[in-house]
Amino acid sequence: MRKKLVVGNWKLHGSLLNNQSLINQLKQDLHGLNWVDAAVCLPYVYLFQAQQLLQDSPIAWGAQNVSQFTEGAYTSCISAKMVAEFGCTYTIVGHSERRALKLESNQIASKRLLHALHAGLTPIFCVGETLDERDGGMAEMIVKNQMLNVVYGLDDEAFALAKKFNMVIAYEPVWAIGTGEHATPEQAQRMHAFIRYMVSERDPEFAQQVRILYGGSMSPANAQSLLSMPDIDGGLIGRAALVAEDFVEICRIAEQCHQQKNTPKEPSRPAPVTWA
Ligand code: PEP
Repeated sequence: MRKKLVVGNWKLHGSLLNNQSLINQLKQDLHGLNWVDAAVCLPYVYLFQAQQLLQDSPIAWGAQNVSQFTEGAYTSCISAKMVAEFGCTYTIVGHSERRALKLESNQIASKRLLHALHAGLTPIFCVGETLDERDGGMAEMIVKNQMLNVVYGLDDEAFALAKKFNMVIAYEPVWAIGTGEHATPEQAQRMHAFIRYMVSERDPEFAQQVRILYGGSMSPANAQSLLSMPDIDGGLIGRAALVAEDFVEICRIAEQCHQQKNTPKEPSRPAPVTWA
């Protein structure tokens, strides 16, 4: 049974002071979650702070990216091994904001993915189409192309690591990120099912295990409808992750959705026979 996963992507936000109060609020309010893993991905410079504040809590932390290089003359790059030293569980890879800055092609994203796995991190590999691509009927083709790096780009050894470290995939339609406009639950479910199908082509067992997150303007207002879809295993949350109450609320909704999805339904009974 897949546990839900809710990950905050803080992007270029934070300060020592603000992080401390946000993290302390999360630590105080995120409890009673049996079927939800929660994590925050912060700017690199705050990973040490996250480690200090979160190490004795159930909340995990991670980086927002890792370099495609392991070491060398690559000014300003941060390697997967470096972030692993700060106790990170996760790293985001291939976020569309990185792809849009033209710094991250599918090939580069797949190198980053590989280094993350070799450093023992759980990558959250992002895929998703732009609005033009969706309007042009190419959404599935684009996502398929991005997924090929994961499904077929990894050799057997790397794929074994992906399974070992529970690689996560995030479907993030670019047009929904930071816009306030989210995919409909049906649109998202369709793409999630397609992604799971792609994983199953390589490894049917892992396809049932892999957590596929939805990202793109998820909020307390729309989380219930998205998270109750059968193939949506959680959320990658941007804006709403910066407000403790909203992030906690999404986690609570995820817990309820998990319970509802997994509560065995009463078998439907035939209508009672009435005797005249
Ligand atoms: C994101 O950046 O991964 C994201 C989903 O952002 P937002 O929730 O703000 O759309």
